[in-house]
Amino acid sequence: MKRVALLSATLLLVLIGVRYYQKINTHPTGPDVKPEFQVVVTPVPEKKPEVVKPQTQKTATKKSITSPPLGRDASLTAQSLQDPDAFIPMTEDGGILIGQATVFVEDEVIVSHGDLIVADLKDLKKIQESGEPLILPAPKFWPNGKVPFQIAPELQGTDEERAVKMAIEEYAKKTPIRFVARVPEDKNYVIFSQGTENCLSNLGMIGGAQKILLAVGCDKGKVIHEMMHTLGFLHEQNREDRDKHLMVLWQNIDEEFHLQFKKIKSSNQKILQTGFDFTSIMLYPPEAFSITPGDYAMVNAEGSPYPVNRHSLSTKDIERIKIIYAPKNE
Ligand SMILES: [Zn+2]
Repeated sequence: MKRVALLSATLLLVLIGVRYYQKINTHPTGPDVKPEFQVVVTPVPEKKPEVVKPQTQKTATKKSITSPPLGRDASLTAQSLQDPDAFIPMTEDGGILIGQATVFVEDEVIVSHGDLIVADLKDLKKIQESGEPLILPAPKFWPNGKVPFQIAPELQGTDEERAVKMAIEEYAKKTPIRFVARVPEDKNYVIFSQGTENCLSNLGMIGGAQKILLAVGCDKGKVIHEMMHTLGFLHEQNREDRDKHLMVLWQNIDEEFHLQFKKIKSSNQKILQTGFDFTSIMLYPPEAFSITPGDYAMVNAEGSPYPVNRHSLSTKDIERIKIIYAPKNE
């Protein structure tokens, strides 16, 4: 009996030994097994400082504000929806005053009005120290409608570069604007560069090199829109006379985006010698910047959403470009 018990105990010990052996040879952290994920230390290019920015057009899905469905509530009149302070304050020389709370930072530039570059991020400290408000200066126009340009190496061969080429072609075909390859003598020029999340541009010619930043997905229509900014044109909903045509539904728009929907005195916009244009490529779609998906930020005077053109220059866009840029400028 003792021998049987001894044998059983020995057998048990052997079995435990075998199991242990199997365990240490199969467990990912076993002594002879390399970990499944190895951390390979490779030199990483210096990363851009990360900047927290408010949500933008693509991600504007913040808290929900309950608002009556549009066009179905008779109490929603243009009057009741007007912000009494709907004009953007201006400087004497036509600059747009911008509160710092209404800007965001992307690709090392400070952005206002959704897609307008106000300043370089590197200048922010200087601006803050000066105590002066941010200003989007009145646009300067490109002499003779000639816009020298370069395409940044990282954009070459991308869909965005193809979109740039198509947009340039459209301007050449329909307007007096000529985007021409930059030569060293061209001191003022545009560099089409890769953006992170949005399509961005300065307003008008700022002097020296200036960027049009294009994130993945900036298609021909969006590039044409940014180029219009580069040429000095603002968004259509900012027109002084827009209330005859549009209702802005302020309650559907997060306050940080309100500036983009305020009006700009026409005295500062000599580019507005043509009537309001629902087909302008510079008009926001009804749903742009609404807090809740499915709600609208703007509707037409009848209270209904309107179709928008996001693909090409409208007849009036072309007309306006001609007013500024043809036959001669400066
Ligand atoms: Zn824009």
